Amino acid sequence: MAILSYLSFRNIQNENYLTQKNFDENRISLQKELEEALEKEQNKIFQETKTASLFLYELPKSLLEFGNAANFKDVNGIEAIFLYNNGTLVYPDISTKWLTSTNHFPDTKPSLAESALYQSEQDKDKLHEVLFSREMLARNPILTPKEQVQNILGLIRIAYREKDYSEALRLLKILEARPKLQGYLHSDLTRSINLLHFDILVKMKKHQDAEDYCLTVLNNFLQEKNIEDIPSTRFFFETAFTQILSFENLKQEKREAFWNLRGNFNRQLDYTDILIQNQEFFNNTLHSESASKTGILFKSERDVTLFRMSYPLLSGNQVVIAKVNETAYRNRILDKLKNVAQRWNNVPFSITDTRDSLLLGSIPDSATVLTQTSLSSALPWQLSLYEKDVSEIRQESRHRMFLMYGLLFFSLITVIFGSFFMLRFFIQEHKLLAMKANFLSSVSHELKTPLTSIKMFAEMMARGRVMKVEKVQEYSGLINKEASRLENLIGAILNYTRMEHGTGAFKWEKLDFSVCAKKVFEAVEDIGVEKGLSFKTRFDPNVYVMGDYTALYSLAQNLIENAIKYTNAPGDIEIKVYNEDDRAVFSVIDTGVGIPSSEQKNIFNDFYRVGDEMTRSTKGSGLGLAIVKRVAETHKATISLTSKPGKGSNFTVRFRKVD
Ligand code: ADP
Repeated sequence: MAILSYLSFRNIQNENYLTQKNFDENRISLQKELEEALEKEQNKIFQETKTASLFLYELPKSLLEFGNAANFKDVNGIEAIFLYNNGTLVYPDISTKWLTSTNHFPDTKPSLAESALYQSEQDKDKLHEVLFSREMLARNPILTPKEQVQNILGLIRIAYREKDYSEALRLLKILEARPKLQGYLHSDLTRSINLLHFDILVKMKKHQDAEDYCLTVLNNFLQEKNIEDIPSTRFFFETAFTQILSFENLKQEKREAFWNLRGNFNRQLDYTDILIQNQEFFNNTLHSESASKTGILFKSERDVTLFRMSYPLLSGNQVVIAKVNETAYRNRILDKLKNVAQRWNNVPFSITDTRDSLLLGSIPDSATVLTQTSLSSALPWQLSLYEKDVSEIRQESRHRMFLMYGLLFFSLITVIFGSFFMLRFFIQEHKLLAMKANFLSSVSHELKTPLTSIKMFAEMMARGRVMKVEKVQEYSGLINKEASRLENLIGAILNYTRMEHGTGAFKWEKLDFSVCAKKVFEAVEDIGVEKGLSFKTRFDPNVYVMGDYTALYSLAQNLIENAIKYTNAPGDIEIKVYNEDDRAVFSVIDTGVGIPSSEQKNIFNDFYRVGDEMTRSTKGSGLGLAIVKRVAETHKATISLTSKPGKGSNFTVRFRKVD
């Protein structure tokens, strides 16, 4: 007991040591795997960004090219991609025209004429008066250009109200065709005019003109020196594209072209917006030296993070600057790191960002920090690994020990059960072999006895010693009897081997079991009567079953012969064949020696014979019931046996009835 306790104590100590060692190894592995997973995912993002930038480089130029253009592939984790070729911005290309945003027209006070118009709109009579003089108003040389523009705007509004669309269009064109006048409109107003023009074309159902007009505005916009007020531009194009896409007679090809153009244009506007807001930061990033060996440079300023990568292409050096979408980038990488961490869930660690907020893992209350490294990510993160709690180590080693003992116990049980089953198998096999040997010896004995008699009588007759005719008759009668005994025995063996080799040799047919059983009965009745037994039979007509005649014959023969063999005189044997529901029933009931219940399940085994005196004195091979069982099985029949020693037995076989 003392030794056992000592060993167990030693074992626990060992386990503690092993667990600590195991933990140290796990910690190193975790750190390595986290770093690898992060690098792998980042490289994937770089690769995807590069692929997406190649698409931008080959951007479609004309409207219809847009229809067939491949879709731009968004990169998860990246908000915007900027492409430079030999130092000049290639995408987004509208941004190249960007200079400064100036408000040319801050004064929105109504002019005299406009005030007059405004008032006249309230007063219906005065309106006509003003309308009458509207041409004059538009050309009045005394008015300043600013006032002129406002007057024309007023006139346009009236024409639009009156649904005089062609007049409104004419006036709009006056404004639009005079770039000088347009200078007096701030960009907001320019887009309102564009929108009104477009709207009137749609109202007049001039769809083709509306499409053309939208593209002209787009062209003009792209050629403008100053890109101003992105929101109102975006509003105009969004409204126009949406309207065009809803035109019923728009061809599929064009619809796709407009759809892609809209996506691309919005993307360009978004990217341009970013560029305008971070112009200087972009310039710095573009021109600063790269320190890392991968050639990828990360830069962060306020809440904007950029990375720069370059790769050579046929048309010179490509530089890609991408703006990181921090949330998406973080989630994408954390997803991968989570997978790694799951595999090492027993190592305490944490990943935090610059604001010290926890991204992954957990920060233990009191544990000591063992290592702290910054992860080389676009986003500056810190990985901390902590010492493991002693109680936790103990618990883990206990867990490991429990697992080990459990495994040991399980193996032991398996070995015990395995040996038990093996032993049983060997015993059974041995029994079977013994039974077969026993069978062979009894069969050869059985075969030898009649053969010896036959040989003896035949020899006696051959030597001419038997002169009397009666003796010759008696001997040949004996020879005949022994020969039929031999025949029966060989028949049983053949029958058995036939059954053992399966149903291949069977000839299946529909037959009346009564006819079959009656044949058997007639063949053996004499033996029973001679022994002093009385028979009672019931052979109902039309008890049809599906089966092999020879097999069924030997089933009936074995059961009836057994009843005769194992019943002493005076005794009764009842044989019944009848239909019952969907079954064809065959019963053999005797008042013989019976079978003890402990033997009932054995007697159907091959070569098995009950070891009592009665059986020993009765000739048999132990194959009869084995044949019965096999025939019943192949015919999908059931056998039931009720028997009491000294009272008798009832063997009943139930077949499936055939109509
Ligand atoms: P056997 O050739 O010995 O008759 P069986 O396989 O036909 O072989 O029967 C197996 C054993 O079952 C017999 O040895 C006998 O002890 C017992 N048995 C079979 N039928 C009866 C019966 N009707 N009454 C009593 N015992 C029987």
